[in-house]
Amino acid sequence: MLKGILIPDKLFIQVMQAPLQNFYDISTSLVFDGLPRSIAQAVWLNKSLTEQQIEICKAIYLDVSLEEMTKRVAKRLVCMSCHAPNGYYNGQEKCDFCGGELAQRVDDESTTVHDRLLEYQKQTEPLIKLYKADNKLIEIDGEQPIHIVFADLIKSLQLSLLPDIPDISLEHSIDL
Ligand SMILES: [Zn+2]
Repeated sequence: MLKGILIPDKLFIQVMQAPLQNFYDISTSLVFDGLPRSIAQAVWLNKSLTEQQIEICKAIYLDVSLEEMTKRVAKRLVCMSCHAPNGYYNGQEKCDFCGGELAQRVDDESTTVHDRLLEYQKQTEPLIKLYKADNKLIEIDGEQPIHIVFADLIKSLQLSLLPDIPDISLEHSIDL
C-alpha cells in the first residue's frame, strides 16, 4: 500500500476466503466496506457468496469528485503510536485515543495519492457500471455534510430493501 497500489486480486481472495467460508455461522447481515475493488474481485465474491446461497443486496457508491477526494485524503491523520485513524486535520496535534503524535499516512502523501486515485479510477469505476446494470447500485452524493449523506443512505436502503415500512426521516432526528 505504500506505493499507493490497491490490494491485488490474489491477496484479496487469500484474505477473504476463510471469513466467507465461515459466513454461514453469522446469522445477521454483512457489510463489505471498501470492497470489492475490481471486476475480478466482484466476480470472485459473487461466486463465493452464491455457493452459500447468499445474495449481494445492494452496492453503495458515495460519489465524491477526484478534486474533493484529494483534498480530504491530504488532511487525513493517523497516530504514530497506536496507528488509529484520527479523522481530518482541524488543528488537533495529539491522538484522541492515546495522546500520541499525529501524522499524515505515508500513502496519503500527494504523489502516492495521485497514483492511488488513478488506480482507483481504473479499477473501481467499472464496478459502478456492473452493479448499476444489475440494478443493485445506490448512488449517494458524498460531498454533502456527513449527516445528510447518512440520512440519504438510510433512506435509499429503506426504500430499496424495506419499501413497505413507513419513512423514518432521520434527517431531522439525528443530532450530529
Ligand atoms: Zn494513538
